[in-house]
Amino acid sequence: MDLQMAGTLRIDLAALVANYRLIAAQVASASVAGVVKANAYGLGAVEVSRALLDTGCRHFFVAHLCEATALRPHLPTDATLYVLNGVQPGAEAACAAIGALPVLNSLEQIDGWAATARALNRALPAVIQVDSGMSRLGLAPTDLAALRDQPDRLAGIDLRLVMTHLACADHPDDSFNPHQRATFDAIARQFPGVPRSIDNSGGAMTSGVAHGDIVRAGIALYGGAPHGEPNPMHAVVALDAYIVQLRTVDAGAGVGYGLTHRFDRPSHIATVSVGYADGWPRHLSNRGFAYIGGVRAPIVGRVSMDSLALDVTDVPDYLLYPAAAVELIGPHQSIDDVATQADTISYEILTRLGPRYARTYL
Ligand code: PLP
Repeated sequence: MDLQMAGTLRIDLAALVANYRLIAAQVASASVAGVVKANAYGLGAVEVSRALLDTGCRHFFVAHLCEATALRPHLPTDATLYVLNGVQPGAEAACAAIGALPVLNSLEQIDGWAATARALNRALPAVIQVDSGMSRLGLAPTDLAALRDQPDRLAGIDLRLVMTHLACADHPDDSFNPHQRATFDAIARQFPGVPRSIDNSGGAMTSGVAHGDIVRAGIALYGGAPHGEPNPMHAVVALDAYIVQLRTVDAGAGVGYGLTHRFDRPSHIATVSVGYADGWPRHLSNRGFAYIGGVRAPIVGRVSMDSLALDVTDVPDYLLYPAAAVELIGPHQSIDDVATQADTISYEILTRLGPRYARTYL
């Protein structure tokens, strides 16, 4: 435990690789791409990508060109880097210069990329995303009709992939999934011979469906449940904070800002080294838990910026001392458990984990 920092974040790269293999086994002939946007969901894009490269992964997705620019030097030339948000007007030359493939989401992005290809006098590789029902990113039916009428708009674009994104893949029985898959199948026929990508983690871990040529796996690589419980993935993340101070209070005492919790018996409180500035949700005030020596202790009062309070009255004394480790994520409490307590998703828990943790890679 590094007591100069808020806590220790352990990232198990062997578990990440095991998850990669589990997904690869599930999707049979499709390639598994690593979605390493947002610094690999907060876990370290460079470290995660290296581990994935070692296990054979050659496709990597980020969201923004700045992420691609930072990651590109760490990838070998035979690895392909995709930018999900596409390329914005004026950024095309920068994108072409690093050899990243923009995911072209609109006719404007297509026109801009094609114009850059003409200006550079060479074909530029890219992906086209189509909207099959999520209404977020990608070409709408009218855009697709325009492309059918004016196929020259794609001149100079070396189309490597046509993709879409599922809105409800975390619920494999949702009837919108087959609808979106069928819509995508029909649209993709407009691009004969071009490889296809449809699935994220939830889609990839769905049985009995066609997974296309590349699946884009994020949360399942990082140990998050693709479909809720039971979760077949291996835990990748463990987070320990530590006890900063212990105190004993009388019945009736309050704790934390606003004194939102009052003790109904004489109680022991442990003040712990992590707060909302470290990404521990303030929404867990008076509702989350932590574990000390495997014993559960409830969060009492409001989570502060740099600390939170645990009611440790029921934790045996021998486990309670300054600097004692406090499990926030680990064997007793998964990222999905924390997300459920905080009314959010594991993605948000992971991507919020702040810079004040000592990060160790196993
Ligand atoms: N593909 C796209 C377009 C995404 O936006 C994301 C993540 O949000 C992913 C794939 C990966 O999703 P997941 O983390 O659920 O595997």
